[in-house]
Amino acid sequence: MTSTVRTRIAPSPTGMLHLGTARTALFSWAFARHHGGSFILRIEDTDLERSTEEAVQVILDSMKWLGLEYDEGPFRQTDRLPRYREVIERLLAEGKAYPCYATREELDALRADQTARGEKPRYDGRWRPERAQGKTPPDGVAPVIRFRTPDTGEVWWNDLVKGPIHIANAELDDLVIARGDGVPTYNFAVVVDDIDMGITHVLRGDDHVNNTPRQINIYRAILGEDAALPRFGHLSMILGPDGQKLSKRHGAVSVLQYEEDGFLPEALFNYLARLGWSHGDAEKFGREELVQWFDLEHVNRAPAQYDINKLLWLNGEYLKEAEAPRLASLTASRLRTHGIDADQPGCGPRLDAVVTLYRGRVRTLNELADEAMLFYRDPQVHADLLREHIQGSVRDSLQAFARAAEEAGSWERAAISEQIKRVLVEFGLKMPQFAIPLRVAVSGRTQTPSIDAVLELLGREATVRRVRAALAA
Ligand code: GLU
Repeated sequence: MTSTVRTRIAPSPTGMLHLGTARTALFSWAFARHHGGSFILRIEDTDLERSTEEAVQVILDSMKWLGLEYDEGPFRQTDRLPRYREVIERLLAEGKAYPCYATREELDALRADQTARGEKPRYDGRWRPERAQGKTPPDGVAPVIRFRTPDTGEVWWNDLVKGPIHIANAELDDLVIARGDGVPTYNFAVVVDDIDMGITHVLRGDDHVNNTPRQINIYRAILGEDAALPRFGHLSMILGPDGQKLSKRHGAVSVLQYEEDGFLPEALFNYLARLGWSHGDAEKFGREELVQWFDLEHVNRAPAQYDINKLLWLNGEYLKEAEAPRLASLTASRLRTHGIDADQPGCGPRLDAVVTLYRGRVRTLNELADEAMLFYRDPQVHADLLREHIQGSVRDSLQAFARAAEEAGSWERAAISEQIKRVLVEFGLKMPQFAIPLRVAVSGRTQTPSIDAVLELLGREATVRRVRAALAA
């Protein structure tokens, strides 16, 4: 049975796709999928000054990267201007909307007066038809169209997240639904779209709670008093660690920035699903589980707190289980930005072997690439490290090891391990006393995975070259 659930995400293309919008998209997607319904992408591009084509592309790329596939769209509001005009004409003809010729200066003065009197600034209805009678519209002012908000009564809805919300119409003024150039405003276009697209559940950030009563009045004006409305659910904000709304100050907020920073899409997806929703104590789960489990009852009313360490942990977990060829290719593209082509014959070991050795030790692809780089470019070992570790009798042991390495019959891990043991015995050293200087010499780091495994991958020639270079430094 196909379900009638229809959800949407309606981002404005004015920059990046914000983490909060991505989270709303993910909840809307999961809710639709859970009910076997449809998820729709609509680009709200009526703010002509701020909308750009690049930002549209960023939205599409971000959705694709996160795997939030939509069933319909992307619809664009700028393609629907004639439709909005048609509805506005109808509301004008029915007396539910009216032209307002108030100039910006007039409205500024009105606001200043109201503020001075300690009142909430609001439009005073001066161009409502009954008050406009006999007034001559001023020359050169293209009127905006205002919606005639009911004077009395109240609007209420049972919010899917926040529970019942009531607003008295007396609190609302006559909002602008079309600007002087005829382009509709958000609160109007969103209603026409949600009606035309048959949206049944509107999920969005709770910065829109104040818009919803206005939109409900517009629904009723268009569809009639008893019209069936969609259900509304307003998601609480995402807060930074300091309790303030998540913003650039707290780090990356753009979805594609996470891609660049070395996160896997499934890790960010999983993380976003847990930002304000939970299923028992499940922390790590995939798309299928989310679709199976998702419900609005477990969306948290309280704001969610962004925690980069949890995201890094999840990413590390997903790195451990990702297919090696995929990790290799994601790492290869990062190495290329450092001028390293790991696929070139003779350049170094196979990248999938390198990522397999390191992936349990890193939390991002960028860290993985940093580690992998060691296999393709000799390190610049820090002078302090050399001074601290490549000194005294250890130097002789490294010399001996380099010599033995050159002569060894096999460069398999087990053979390398044997050679290391022989050096330990010969020089009376304990493993760390030799292994740490050796690590420093070949990698410029005091910690690596098992040294024999590292050296096997690095190859005999590079190992000997690097040990000798460290001794000569
Ligand atoms: N364009 C609006 C936004 O990005 C959409 C809000 C809504 O979902 O109604 O906030």
